[in-house]
Amino acid sequence: MKKYLLTPGPTELPPRVLLAMAHPIIHHRAPEFLPVLEQAREGLKWLFKTKNEVLILASSGTGAMEGAVTNFLSKGDKAIAVNSGKFGERWAQICKAYGVDADVINVEWGQAVEPGKIKDELKKQPDTKAVYLQATETSTGVVHPIKEIAKIVHDNSNALVVVDGITGVGVFELPMDEWGIDILLTGSQKALMLPPGLAFIGISDRAWKFAETSNLPKYYFNFSKELKNIVKNQTAYTPAISLITGLGESLKMMKEEGLENVYKRHAMLADATRNGVKAMGLKLYAPKSPSNSLTAVLSPEGIDSGKIISSLEKDFGIRVANGQDQAKGKIFRIAHMGYYDKSDILFALASLEIVLNKLGYRVEPGAGVGAAEKVLV
Ligand SMILES: *Cc1c(COP(=O)(O)O)cnc(C)c1O
Repeated sequence: MKKYLLTPGPTELPPRVLLAMAHPIIHHRAPEFLPVLEQAREGLKWLFKTKNEVLILASSGTGAMEGAVTNFLSKGDKAIAVNSGKFGERWAQICKAYGVDADVINVEWGQAVEPGKIKDELKKQPDTKAVYLQATETSTGVVHPIKEIAKIVHDNSNALVVVDGITGVGVFELPMDEWGIDILLTGSQKALMLPPGLAFIGISDRAWKFAETSNLPKYYFNFSKELKNIVKNQTAYTPAISLITGLGESLKMMKEEGLENVYKRHAMLADATRNGVKAMGLKLYAPKSPSNSLTAVLSPEGIDSGKIISSLEKDFGIRVANGQDQAKGKIFRIAHMGYYDKSDILFALASLEIVLNKLGYRVEPGAGVGAAEKVLV
């Protein structure tokens, strides 16, 4: 059976990227690797919209998250972590592990954080060193208002704005320098159309100043050391050579399409997916502020979402994701970030209609697909 991956990481890989990575391995200190690394660095600056270097790490996204704490803060520093789901929780856990005193703003799952809450917290804790949050909280499908939050943080404190953009970068606008995002990070296996294994982190001049005095323990994820090497077009350790070669190709694909068009495509696919599931009578898990990277859908009353997920897999070869923790069994998540197009969405919605009917939830055949067609131009 043909397989389709519609999960919020890993995501589908374009044949062009697969082929680029299939070349025989080259040595990372050999002259052939220099243009590969250089092209990747340039492309990342273009994607992050920053004049600064974007570091390339051999790790999953969480490695960059950990480094975003250990490289900029010191023991006992105060921070704010926005916890609106599984990944927000991770910020709080990393802070705790390293002895950073993080004040956690708990947000109900499925809701976006109110920027005013961050302002209040900063007023209470004027010596806050960093505010940690997600662009999209992937566990709930919500998008946070990053532009507004960055402004509020800068207007009310000297804290760094640290954004986990793992399901944001390459999906929607997150211009680092223009919005004053001090640290922006992402991973390879989401919108960047690559296998898991790389993390990327852009760092502002302000944040580099924090790095000078940071005393938290670090060795592998030592960003100052990485920077010293990368500006010489070198890496501190053995880089993930094949993945970086693939990155060159995926960035090239994004450049060919044009970044604005990449964002527009994601917006259109997200819109179609939301229209489709709503026309089937289903409800969004994050109705007020849904992200364009994935759509989290509430399972109909009395049907465990795991049943929908396993039927999609068994009957159509489609893999979507379940909810996590408190949302497990209650929602399913259809991702549309990265290498996806209109046909993927139509196919997913049509399959979902059939599966729902099979599980006893009545949907007029074509209801979801028809609603999606209206926005798929
Ligand atoms: C996927 C994801 C991560 C975690 O990344 P790993 O690559 O599994 O370490 C972190 N944050 C968000 C928002 C994600 O979607």
